[in-house]
Amino acid sequence: MSTQEQSAPARCDVAIVGGGILGLAVARELLRRRPGASLCVLERERDLATHQTGHNSGVVHAGIYYAPGSLKARLCVAGARELREYCIERAIPYEQCGKVIVDTDPSELPRLDELERRGQANAVPGLTRLDAEGIRALEPHAVGIAGLHSPATAIVSFPAVARAYAHDVAGAGGGVVTGCEVLGVRAGARGVRLEHTRGATEAGHAIFCAGAWADRLAVAAGADPDPRIVPFRGAYLRLAPARRELVRSLIYPVPDPALPFLGVHLTKHIDGDVLIGPTALLAGARDAYRLSRVRPRDVFDTLAWPGSWRMFAHWWRTGVSELRHAAIRAAFVRAAARYVPELRLQDVEPSFAGVRAQALARDGKLVDDFVFSATERALHVRNAPSPAATSSLAIARHVVDRAQEAFDL
Ligand SMILES: Cc1cc2nc3c(=O)[nH]c(=O)nc-3n(C[C@H](O)[C@H](O)[C@H](O)COP(=O)(O)OP(=O)(O)OC[C@H]3O[C@@H](n4cnc5c(N)ncnc54)[C@H](O)[C@@H]3O)c2cc1C
Repeated sequence: MSTQEQSAPARCDVAIVGGGILGLAVARELLRRRPGASLCVLERERDLATHQTGHNSGVVHAGIYYAPGSLKARLCVAGARELREYCIERAIPYEQCGKVIVDTDPSELPRLDELERRGQANAVPGLTRLDAEGIRALEPHAVGIAGLHSPATAIVSFPAVARAYAHDVAGAGGGVVTGCEVLGVRAGARGVRLEHTRGATEAGHAIFCAGAWADRLAVAAGADPDPRIVPFRGAYLRLAPARRELVRSLIYPVPDPALPFLGVHLTKHIDGDVLIGPTALLAGARDAYRLSRVRPRDVFDTLAWPGSWRMFAHWWRTGVSELRHAAIRAAFVRAAARYVPELRLQDVEPSFAGVRAQALARDGKLVDDFVFSATERALHVRNAPSPAATSSLAIARHVVDRAQEAFDL
């Protein structure tokens, strides 16, 4: 959706920075609670949903992986339910195809047990344990010794959802301004001044949902630099159309619980493609959709952050293996062939890449949960990796609850 004709208002009650799925969901929720509020969404790109929202696996997660009680667990389970209802109401294609998590090695069984425990504790609907035969019954080309089946997991186009949110915002009188990059933030007792590429907006309050650039805007508004965003590039392959029958729905490995990534998976996409991926390679730019894109400022910000060096020291083996997946297609395919053994190099074609905005703490920990924080007259979404697209409606409620408390709206 392009809304570039609209100019940025000189004044408004609330400005939302970022026209990805979260900024739009937050704007929509605010206008539902405060009809008539003067609100605008400022997005730097010419179109909405062009970064993480437009480059992902398109999976509506059911809430299996997340530590019970965490924001991810709560907001994913609620958000998935609400998103399903929203898509039905708006006639947005939504396919509840279900998902199988496949364990190929006895050493992974304790992790699978833990996933099952978490899924039950999070009240994931219909989660069941599978044996080798149960896996084959659901996914005839997958092989494993044990697994989990989540029938509620679904697929959707998150850009289509984001466009529908934008439509709701515009319909409720909110402004959605694209091609408007916020360059400076100045908060005072009476409001927040946002300087941007279309001039300036004086807002009563601001909510920043800026994805890969969240840390920079938060620091500009006076927040602590911890955590910093580091970009992880996730490249996908796709199955050649003649080989799509290898995958019926979604096939995932058992992930390493110490990492916030789910491992290379095979996922049916709502447009019919079957994707394999994503990789998780530290990138040279926050918009490294091409592997060769390197931005000196982004590289500097990663390397100057003490947490990066602590992360390298701890995760260098995983980094080397991810580098192999990124550089050698055969190694990437072999990773997926562990649980779909018929998969061959000639079955795949290159596809797109996304860039995860992953928060990294000063102590070197990859921040797992969603993180929200506040500065004077502003709120910030500081870490919203997967499953934030799934959780968008629930995250919006959470953020607007905080905004109502903090801003006295
Ligand atoms: C490879 C990959 C796979 C994923 N798979 C899934 C999945 O299957 N299911 C799921 O639920 N989630 C998944 N995710 C996560 C999901 O895509 C994100 O959590 C979600 O899109 C975050 O939305 P957002 O609005 O915060 O970020 P974004 O979509 O990145 O939007 C942020 C916006 O802020 C704008 N912005 C930044 N700086 C400025 C500025 N200075 N001025 C104005 N605008 C600015 C950007 O241009 C951008 O449009 C995946 C992510 C990736 C990368």
